[in-house]
Amino acid sequence: MLVSWKETLESLQATVPLPFPVTVSRRKLSNGLQGYCKLLMNGTTKISIVVDKRLSESMQSDVLVHEWAHGLLTPFIYEYTDHGSMWGIMFARCYQAAYE
Ligand SMILES: [Zn+2]
Repeated sequence: MLVSWKETLESLQATVPLPFPVTVSRRKLSNGLQGYCKLLMNGTTKISIVVDKRLSESMQSDVLVHEWAHGLLTPFIYEYTDHGSMWGIMFARCYQAAYE
């Protein structure tokens, strides 16, 4: 299925909003990193999601859904490389929001 980046982002924001303001950006990433999510706590708390802009648009959307699931776990989890059962539940919710 082909869902555009914009539609994916809008569906996620509407259906599974993150607990803090989020900045989503697309940049060139190195070291084979496709994307990341991190919590910024200098002053105001914000979530930053970055996706590798060299990926195809549908891959970028897939990575966004993946990182969004990490974002939903803030502020409970600080380890964003964890893909355990809590992340899995959040990922299912995000996947549903984006693709169903
Ligand atoms: Zn991850």
